[in-house]
Order: sequence, then structure tokens, then C-alpha cells
Amino acid sequence: MRRISEMYERSGGCDYKHTCEECGHIYIETGKTRWGHRQQEASCRLYTQLYGPAVWNPKWGACKFFREQQQEPKQMSLWEFIGGTD
Ligand code: SF4
Repeated sequence: MRRISEMYERSGGCDYKHTCEECGHIYIETGKTRWGHRQQEASCRLYTQLYGPAVWNPKWGACKFFREQQQEPKQMSLWEFIGGTD
């Protein structure tokens, strides 16, 4: 069975409005190929916990375990801190 199909079955379906790349459960691993080239691969944290590590296609349609990614809090600039306007 395709890996994403496993997640659709587990979660109860596809969240067709989103893709895995928008999900907070996806992460990027940086490794090296056997020729020493730098390589980045995506993985689903939930799938990894359930079945073990697997390469993930970030363009797949999200499953129902989709979770919004946490946004980093916006850092205030010095100009905003001293009350300036631009
Ligand atoms: S939507 Fe999130 S939890 Fe579901 S398969 Fe994609 S990355 Fe994993």
C-alpha cells in the first residue's frame, strides 16, 4: 500500500484543501548521498512513529491528521521598539 494511503486510512480520509508540505508534522532531514552530495528529504513525523522512517512527497494531499504549522513569533525591529513609523 502507498504510504500516504496508509495515513488516509488511519486518519479517516484526505484533507483535500492542504498538502503535506503545509503540515506541522512534516520535517526535512539533511543527509548525504553515497557520493557525498548534500541531500534533503522530507518525512512525516506521525508516519515515522507508526511505521518507521520513509521518504515523503511534500506535494501529497494532506491526511486528516493535518495540523497547521506553528508560525515563529515576529521579531520586533528596533525602529518599531522605539515607536517609529515608516
Ligand atoms: S498531512 Fe501531515 S500528518 Fe498527514 S501525512 Fe501529511 S505530513 Fe503526515
